[in-house]
Amino acid sequence: MTSHPQQGLETTRSSSGALNVNVGAASTARDVHPVRRRKVLVLGSTGSIGTSAMKVARDIPDRMEIVGLAAQRSVDALVAQVVETKVKQVCVTDEDAAKRARELLPPDVRIFSGNAGLVEIVRESEADIVLVAIVGIAGLAPSLEAIERGMDLAVASKEILVMAGEAVMSSAARKNVNVLPVDSEHNAIFQCLEQRDPAHIRRLLLTASGGPFRKANAADLESVTVAQALKHPTWSMGRKITIDSATLFNKGLEMIEAHWLFGVPMKRVEVVVHPQSIVHSMVEFVDNSVLAQLSHSDMCFPIQYAVTWPDRVTNNLPPLDFAKLASLHFEAPREDVFPALRLAREAGDAGGTLPAVLNAANEVAVEAFLAGRVKFTAIWQTVERVMQAHDILAHPVLDQLVEADAWARRAAINHLA
Ligand code: NDP
Repeated sequence: MTSHPQQGLETTRSSSGALNVNVGAASTARDVHPVRRRKVLVLGSTGSIGTSAMKVARDIPDRMEIVGLAAQRSVDALVAQVVETKVKQVCVTDEDAAKRARELLPPDVRIFSGNAGLVEIVRESEADIVLVAIVGIAGLAPSLEAIERGMDLAVASKEILVMAGEAVMSSAARKNVNVLPVDSEHNAIFQCLEQRDPAHIRRLLLTASGGPFRKANAADLESVTVAQALKHPTWSMGRKITIDSATLFNKGLEMIEAHWLFGVPMKRVEVVVHPQSIVHSMVEFVDNSVLAQLSHSDMCFPIQYAVTWPDRVTNNLPPLDFAKLASLHFEAPREDVFPALRLAREAGDAGGTLPAVLNAANEVAVEAFLAGRVKFTAIWQTVERVMQAHDILAHPVLDQLVEADAWARRAAINHLA
């Protein structure tokens, strides 16, 4: 059960993790529950999302306090963040980098290391919310630990829900933990839904910028360079997700993420290309009404909402000027040129270990492309081949997911060799 302080509402979760709301369950509000300052542990603090989270904490200090930080090896950036936030707990997963951090940080700062350190910092932290913003699978074990400890989870790392959506959402339901989406599309849907009954949803409409190759033809894609693929038209993000935006695998992963977060079947999760990235996603209800959430494309918006939810709080982010925007454009995605959406739909429909396999094969292929070893088009060719070769296991437990992930990485490496 979760109380909604300012509304006097109480919610429970269905097995899908969707929120059900009981109106009038509690008394009135702000005087009973004063402004909540939420303690946030940021996993992946030196990355693109992590640095945006730092900005949000600076912008709304009465609402957000950072109490722990974790990174892989960017020690200098992490030390600067420790100086700014004065946190007493950090995790550096790379062991050599952790030793360097020990030399640079004051002795009263506790340093956890290795992947196990990510779980330990969650266990030892007094955070209300764990913001998971690590690329890849490393965020999964600390996420499950956070849920077990009853901490809310703000999820940026889509890999977690893609790989283990069933396990994460069912554990969260069991522990009455809120899974707060940070990915801008899912945060937009979360805002449009706000506790509405999932039975009222007809379709979730995820918007996609279309990436840098929105108008390219199939032949052009054969000769795409790394620099061209890293030039995202509207968002500034980490390298992996920027390549995923160019192949549309990012949107494919988001379809699976939405399916688990909101308990909506894959066939009712659709993609609309919207090059301006102002409408962050939409929900069509059974009465044919559509709600959308709009703002500038800055990850500070969804991060703030995940932290302050269900409250809305003033900030220093820019408002929209509709006269300047003038028009918003929408078009259908070109699945014949970009097979990522079809592959994601297949993986999400089949479920079990297949989404984890799609995710892992994609990671390996993206890494190979970024290293200049393979062509851009090899990314989806590799994913498709590895998915075809996989024997799906239904309702996998964590170890089986990790095994499927490792199998898919080996299969992708072999395919690319
Ligand atoms: P970045 O590559 O910019 O940052 C990744 C962060 O995670 C860094 O702090 C990095 O540390 C840390 N990290 C990576 N691996 C490990 C590990 N094994 N242990 C501990 N820390 C680790 O990524 P983004 O911020 O772009 O993305 C993070 C996640 O959020 C991804 O899953 C992405 O899909 C998702 N996301 C990102 C969006 C964006 O706008 N960037 C939008 C929506 C979702 P170090 O600096 O030391 O390497």
